[in-house]
Amino acid sequence: MLETIAGAQVARTPAQVRAWTEKMRVAGKRIALVPTMGALHAGHMTLVAAARHHADVVIVTVFVNPLQFGPKEDFAAYPRPFDKDCALCAQAGVELIYAPTPQTMYPPGFQSHVEVEALTQGLCGAARPTHFRGVTTVVLKLLNIAMADVALFGEKDYQQLQALKRMALDLDHPTQVLGVAIAREPDGLAMSSRNVYLTAAERQAALAIVRSLRAAQAAVRAGERDAAQLAAAMAAAMTAAGGRVDYVAIVDPQSLQPVATVAQPARAIVATWFGRARLLDNADLLP
Ligand code: AMP
Repeated sequence: MLETIAGAQVARTPAQVRAWTEKMRVAGKRIALVPTMGALHAGHMTLVAAARHHADVVIVTVFVNPLQFGPKEDFAAYPRPFDKDCALCAQAGVELIYAPTPQTMYPPGFQSHVEVEALTQGLCGAARPTHFRGVTTVVLKLLNIAMADVALFGEKDYQQLQALKRMALDLDHPTQVLGVAIAREPDGLAMSSRNVYLTAAERQAALAIVRSLRAAQAAVRAGERDAAQLAAAMAAAMTAAGGRVDYVAIVDPQSLQPVATVAQPARAIVATWFGRARLLDNADLLP
């Protein structure tokens, strides 16, 4: 029996999800999967809205995945407002929430992982060496359980999106992995579950991230082509605002390899700490 929480149907085991998806498939419904760690905000809801364009029914997964957190990271502190998440999903007409426990996801003896190699080495992979292995492992499990037609992920986590596209391609997964544009607050800050860690002053200072991306886009439009110059200006602007820059990279949008000159499509990708929040953002420099 599925639980109903705040008006949403909630599955807790792979068997429950499989029984549900089987019924949907027999009824001829296309299925979309939206994996999340909960603490849902309007950015997650744009994934749900995009999912509606590709499918008849939408499954949102809510699972704070221990495998993708490093030992000194915020796994314990990560927000878990599950009832509120259920209410938001119910409001958006999400047909099923899958919210397993860590024990269900990783039963005793669990020892299989999936790794996407070159795409996950640099950028966030440099500071978080086991992060992407945790992400790709849990997402492959979710894709295998749901066997959805499409799965949607945000461009906010751009490296993650590229790694997951690669994984599905390399491992012949039938689910189509699709990206969705970054949802922003009215002032431009990329929406994130970790924004709740920011004080009012830090949140204001963190606008330097999106400002520096927009300044880089403007510089490229004005003719600047030197990636090192562009990255240095971005880093300086974020540091001046009180941020602690983890990295600023200007990369090929598919391979994520650094480019020296912005002559072909290029993406600027940033990770910067404001207070105790490590914030990600990115933008096309030359679409
Ligand atoms: P998370 O719960 O942070 O793991 O995010 C779940 C999914 O929502 C991931 O595919 C994220 O990339 C996506 N997401 C989170 N924030 C945003 C945003 N501001 N815009 C678009 N997608 C987002």
